[in-house]
Amino acid sequence: MKLEEITQNVYYVPGAVNIGVLEVGANDANGANAVLIDTGLDREAGRRILKLLEKNQLKVKAIVNTHSHADHFGGNSFIVKRSQAKVFAPEIEAGIIQYPYIEPLYLFSAHPVRDLQNRFLMAEASRVDFILKEFDHGLKPLNLDLDLEIIPLYGHSPKQIGVAVDDILFCADSVFSKEVIEKYKIPLFMDIEKQKQTLSFLEKSDYDFYIPCHAKPTSDISELVELNLGVIERVEEFLAAERGTTDEILRRLCKEFGIRLADFTSYSLMLSTLKAYLGHLYDRGVLEVEFGDTLYWKGAK
Ligand SMILES: [Zn+2]
Repeated sequence: MKLEEITQNVYYVPGAVNIGVLEVGANDANGANAVLIDTGLDREAGRRILKLLEKNQLKVKAIVNTHSHADHFGGNSFIVKRSQAKVFAPEIEAGIIQYPYIEPLYLFSAHPVRDLQNRFLMAEASRVDFILKEFDHGLKPLNLDLDLEIIPLYGHSPKQIGVAVDDILFCADSVFSKEVIEKYKIPLFMDIEKQKQTLSFLEKSDYDFYIPCHAKPTSDISELVELNLGVIERVEEFLAAERGTTDEILRRLCKEFGIRLADFTSYSLMLSTLKAYLGHLYDRGVLEVEFGDTLYWKGAK
């Protein structure tokens, strides 16, 4: 684990989840204060991040969580206990960070089977001290010498945010790498309309550097935007011509895209993703529904 410097005060730690580190002025202990953007999957990730910061004489004053998936806030509780860092998170996401049971609960739509109560879907709970609003500047209650901006990147999760600082955008899970898409085929987006708006925002944006959590940092985001948009378009095209129950469509979608559902986790995540698309196509009038012995989707006349 190491700090990669981007500008004098902006770093990231490459890993399964790229973690942002912002240096924000000297402290009394001959070091500097730092703000973390996300904290990794679990307490081990938190422990490693803290060790790395200590080695670099950085003292964590705040954590900004981009969204409420376990691999982005699982390190919080360890770091908060050892550092008294204040936690900032966007609304809705903050609820799940404080009550992680909500994630497997919404994925299963009922008390989740034990298989779903795993460390990838249910991290250790963390306190959230302050709610971030879109386009907020700085981390106001903390009085840090830091000019950052909270950028809405909704879609992958309901209220995911990015952090812009020094013309660099930490853009969370708004785009996925080619490798991730090759592995999972259809990445997790929960609100297709918002996700398209996010991709269009990224395409038009002009930051010097973009740091996604699950792709290599890049100065040109357009290739990743195209790639992610391409998947959305292919899924939409396939579903617009479908009819049947949700499970029938899920089976054909998996066959079409070469997806294997190996367990409750992969099944639940793919079902959620499919429902995001079906809901979006229904709201736009592309699909209709029929109720009888169950729910049937079909193309609108
Ligand atoms: Zn995520």
